[in-house]
This record gives sequence, structure tokens and C-alpha cells, in this order.
Amino acid sequence: MLNLDTSVEDVPKIGTAYAKKLKKLGIKTVQDLLFYFPARYDDFSDIIPIKKVEVGQIACVQGRIVSVDQTHTFKKGMDITEVVIEDETGQITALWFNQPYLVQSLKEDQYICLAGKVSLGKDGLYLSNPAYERIYEDSLNENLTHTGRIIPVYSETKGVTSRWLRYVIKPLLTQFHTLIPEILPPEMVEKQKFLPISEAIWQAHFPESFEYADAAKARFAFEDLLLLQLSVLKEKAKLLQNKAQPCPMDATLMKEFTKSLPFQLTDSQRQCAFTILKDLEKPVPMQRLLQGDVGSGKTVVSTMAALNTVKCGYQVAFMAPTEILAKQHFLGISNMLEKFDAKVAFLSGKGSQINGQDKVTKKELLKKLETGEIDILIGTQALISKGVKFKNLALIVLDEQHRFGVNQRAELTREKRTMPHLLSMTATPIPRTLALTVYGDLDLSLIKEMPKNRKKIITTVVGQSDRQKAYEFIKNEVKQGRGVFVICPKIEQKDSEASRRPTSGNFVPQNYSFGFTANQEIKSVKQEYEKLSKEIFPDLRITMLYGKMKAEEKERIMQDFKKGEIDILLSTSVVEVGVDVPRATIMMIEGAERFGLSQLHQFRGRVGRSDMQSYCFLFTTEESQQNRKRLKAMERSSNGFELAEEDLKIRGPGQLYGTQQWGLPDTAMQNLSNIFLIEKTRSEAKELLEKDPTLQNYPLLKARLKHFEQKIHFE
Ligand code: ADP
Ligand code: MG
Repeated sequence: MLNLDTSVEDVPKIGTAYAKKLKKLGIKTVQDLLFYFPARYDDFSDIIPIKKVEVGQIACVQGRIVSVDQTHTFKKGMDITEVVIEDETGQITALWFNQPYLVQSLKEDQYICLAGKVSLGKDGLYLSNPAYERIYEDSLNENLTHTGRIIPVYSETKGVTSRWLRYVIKPLLTQFHTLIPEILPPEMVEKQKFLPISEAIWQAHFPESFEYADAAKARFAFEDLLLLQLSVLKEKAKLLQNKAQPCPMDATLMKEFTKSLPFQLTDSQRQCAFTILKDLEKPVPMQRLLQGDVGSGKTVVSTMAALNTVKCGYQVAFMAPTEILAKQHFLGISNMLEKFDAKVAFLSGKGSQINGQDKVTKKELLKKLETGEIDILIGTQALISKGVKFKNLALIVLDEQHRFGVNQRAELTREKRTMPHLLSMTATPIPRTLALTVYGDLDLSLIKEMPKNRKKIITTVVGQSDRQKAYEFIKNEVKQGRGVFVICPKIEQKDSEASRRPTSGNFVPQNYSFGFTANQEIKSVKQEYEKLSKEIFPDLRITMLYGKMKAEEKERIMQDFKKGEIDILLSTSVVEVGVDVPRATIMMIEGAERFGLSQLHQFRGRVGRSDMQSYCFLFTTEESQQNRKRLKAMERSSNGFELAEEDLKIRGPGQLYGTQQWGLPDTAMQNLSNIFLIEKTRSEAKELLEKDPTLQNYPLLKARLKHFEQKIHFE
């Protein structure tokens, strides 16, 4: 006997071979298959008299088969199946190309329904490669699956067509649609005016009308987002049951610190710092995301939190995604805390260092960490490797990191009775509602304004004809002692670097091809180096930087660039995150069409880090209207959030914000841009958990939630 949990392998029409293919679509059980919803629908619901058929139309007709013919054209090597059907109003031909097996299933005098595009041939109108379905004279329009109705079209994979999916799903629906459990509380179904589950699942696949299809979709979208909201809210509630070290705010010390800075904090920085310091006073672990555009000054804010924590007698861990960034934070923070008696140390897979000390082995450093001699440890992922134990860690700061597991958090400290506070920082501009869902377990703070000394970076899209002018401009800037970044999408011509995920900062959107064609030239760093150093700027000091280089080498190059010993730094996207070189005033990007707007914005944030006027040149060879329009948004806007919205419109949420890593189901993914639904599900989830924190009264919902949580991999 089949049931909802039966493996698809055991469904008679499916079997092992198809089961394997279905697995690629994430379908393992009968229930999974029934919840595999169409990506779209074809409207073949209007069956028209043959006489009314017009060229260019997608038409659905039905009638009796008058003749079936099979021919083979030797010239083109094609099999052509030709079927003529007739109804009371006339005859029409259907042609199928290279589907010779059709002859076996289509016979004279059978009735058939056809749906497809109408073309004009030399013998009149014909349907080319139409969808077809046998019908029976006594029930002509009833119970159609592939024609004569609104037809579900699924995302397919090799060997699994929509036609086949309809063929297997429909009988399973007939058998199971009334057996699918209603996981939503009845009062919620009523309040939201949802179709009951048995009806909804049917209408999602074989809708009577588009209104029904929408109603069904709305219900399942709600369900998915509700599960997502429940899961993050529960996670947060669980976390709040832990204890943390309360760190009272030392207002005098904070004032002293801000006074020691060479600049004044912006109002936003001040507010964010205050919120964070207030969080740290509580005996429950802080769980906060600090968002702020590139260059908005997040580091200072986190340094205040770190200093205050140290003054309360605890340790701080500060983690950055790359060696370069971690080192930069180590130098910057050590510098800021120079007068404040805090021992700052650095640890990465490559080395260890203690501020103000000549040499230290990793072993010595770890010892000092465990005895509490080191106050702030800054580093890469190496911080969560084995053997790294803090004496009494009270605060973890994450810079542009992916999610950080609760377990990892507990692992870091010997002090087992408490859990460290967490401050996560990102420049990825996620709209607030979206963040509230995807990071529903985090509180949000936003640095809204940029430091006052910043000038707007002048951005220009440069087509082929203006290249020379841009080069002249760059020469001039360099003459005045400024630094130039050049970004190329690839290292070598054949290298696949550009299509790989950047290793740093999971939040940063991937490179992607936008209207890119394979034979178009891809600028490669090495090739570009040849060109720039030999032809364009023979007198300037140009250096390459790319991901595969040794960390020490990268760092040395960055330092040389910072000091002004390099004029032009030619690089792949490795420089995209956080590197601070105030003397750099030009960001020139080759193949700009290949990057998302958010990523271009990240690149641009590398310049404009001083009071000097900075520039961003977007070089593009892609002349399409759409590309122009997209890149022009960069000229107009210097706001990362606006650009992210633009990206969202053009590319959809699936491509944005590194969402691939969230592992969300497709329906949830599609609905992440539906802010209204996000808010609705959030408030429903909250209400539900307030009434029943463990969902004990809703065992079916609870079970589904568990299943959902196993599927998404947040950590
Ligand atoms: P991000 O938010 O991108 O991490 P950083 O913290 O690296 O930005 O800050 C960028 C630069 O701005 C640093 O050189 C920092 O010293 C400087 N900075 C930070 N806050 C201010 C401010 N309020 N006024 C002027 N400069 C500032
Ligand atoms: Mg930063």
C-alpha cells in the first residue's frame, strides 16, 4: 500500500531509474512529489473550433484523427509525423519532428486533443509539435491532463518532463489529496480565508482557473514563510534562555575613547554604539547584526564594544573572512586602543602575533589566551579551530561572516556557564524586512549615514570610445600621488575563477554573467597586466594581486600599495571586502557587465576613504540597452540599499545577497520579495508561539517544522 511517506521508487509508474532523477529535484517521497509545484501554467483551457484557428496563435483543438503519416526526410535527416484531425468545422494538420514513437500511440478514428503553436506551411495552417492527449468520445472535455485546460508546467531535469510529471502526479493526487494533513491551525486557515489543504493541493497542480491557482499558491507561500518565521523565532527564544556575562557600560571610558579618535563619530555610529553597549549590560547574550554601507565606520563601533568588554574583565574574539582583512583589523584596532591598556593579538592559519611584542609562537599565544593575558584576539576562521580556548570570552565580533552556529559560539570559551554576546557586521544591504526573516534571530542596527568628510564618488560608465580619455585621467591622478585599483573578472583567459564563488564574505553576491556571450573577450588580470604595463602606462608601477597568491605576498603588496610604492593595483575580486587604502582614489572595473550592482558597489567602496575626491570607472564592452541602464544606476546612486533593490528587481531574490547558501525552499525564495507576506507570516508566527511556545497543541505543524528545519541549513 502506498502512503504519503512511501519512497517514489516504490510507486509503480516511477521505479528506480526515475526515482534517481527525481532526487535531483529534491523529491524523495510521494508527499514531496505532491508538493512539487508547477513553475508556471500554460493556458490551453479554451478549446476552439478548427475553423477559428489563426496563424501565430497558441491554440487548443480537438477532433477525430483522419490520417496518420510518417515520413523521413533524408536531406535533413528528420522524422516527421503528420496527423490530420477534423471536427464539425474543418480539418487541421499536426506535425511532430523527431518523435517517431508517436505513430504507435495515435491511430485513425481515435479522438484527440491538441494544443500548440499555429504556423503557416505551404499546405495551409498546421500545429507544430503540439501537446496531445487522447480523449474519449463520451467524455470529451472531462478529466484532461495535458490539453484542454490550464496545464501545469514544472521545472524539469534531464529525463523528467512536465508531461511525465503530470502523468505521475495526477493519479497520486486523486488517491491522496484528501489524506494530506492540514498543518495550519484551523483558525488560521479561516482567518486567512485559505483553501482547505486537499483543495489547495489539487488546484496548485490542475487549477480550474488562474484565480484558483493563485489562491493555492498564496496558501503554500504562506505556509513556507510561516515555517521559516517559526524556525527563526524559536531559535531566538532558545538562545535567550542562555546566560551571558553582563558588562556594565563605562561611560567615562567610552567618552575618553571617542575623544582620542582623529574624527568625530557620526550620529548613527553613536546611536548604534549605545544600543550595543546597552545590550552588553544584559545577562542574556546579545544577538545583533550591525548593518552599514562600506566605509560607514563599523569597525570603530565594534571597537568600543570590545574595549568596554575588556574593561569589565572579559575577553573578545574578532573574526574576519580573509587574512588581509583580519590583519588590517589587528593593526587598526591595536592602533585605536594604543592608549587603553588592552592586549590585542592576531591569529590566522599562517601566523600569530601579539601587539607590542616581537615574536610569538602559536603555542605561546594560545597559552596566554587561556590564562586571560590576551584581551582581544583578532583573526580568521583559525579562531574556531581546535586548541583555541579563551579563559572568559564575553563578546564575539564577526565581520562579513556567514552565520555562526550556537555550538561554535559555546565551543570558544572555557567558561561554560555563559554564552558570549554576538555582534555580527555586514555591508550587505539587505532590506530590513528581508533581514528580519532571514536573520529573524538577530536584532538589527543600521548605520545610516556616512562620515561627513566623504565626498560622493564620481562614477562613470565608460564605453569603448572613451577608454583613452579615462586612461589619460588616471595618469594625471597618479602623478598627484593617488592610488588606482583595477578589477578584472578573471585571472587567466582559460581560468574559471570568475564563475567560482568568492572565498571571502559569503554575503557578497557572486559574479555573474549579465548578457555575456562566450566569445566576448574576458579581461584577464595577466593579460591586462601586459597591456597596461607595456602599452598604456609604461612609466607607472603596476602590480598584480589575485586569490591564489600566498597570504604573506598579498599582504606585502597591500602594504606597499598603502604606502604609495605601487601606483596601480591590478586584481581579481579578492580586494572586494574591506581593504582600507585611503590614498586610493580611482576604482576602475573591467567587464563591469559581469558583476551585480551590489558587488560593484562593494568594489567602489574601496575608494573614497579620505577627503580626496574619488572616481569609479565602469568599463564595459556590452552595448545592450539593459546593461547600460543597469550600470547607469551606479552613476546615479551611492546608496547600497537602493542598488540592492535595483538588483532585486532585475535579477530576482534568487540571485541576490548570496541567498543560495540559505538553502530555502523555492516557494519561500520566490516570496522573499513579498514584504507584505513576510510581515503577515511574522506576526502570525509570533502570535502562535506566544500562545504555545512548543507548539504542543499543533503536532502536525510541529512535525512539519522539524522536517523544514532539517532541510534548511542555516549554520
Ligand atoms: P566599514 O564600515 O566599511 O567597515 P571602516 O570601519 O573600515 O568602514 O571605516 C572606514 C574608514 O572610515 C576608516 O578609515 C575609519 O577610520 C574611518 N572612519 C570611521 N568613522 C569615521 C567618522 N565618523 N568620521 C571620519 N572617518 C571615519
Ligand atoms: Mg569593515
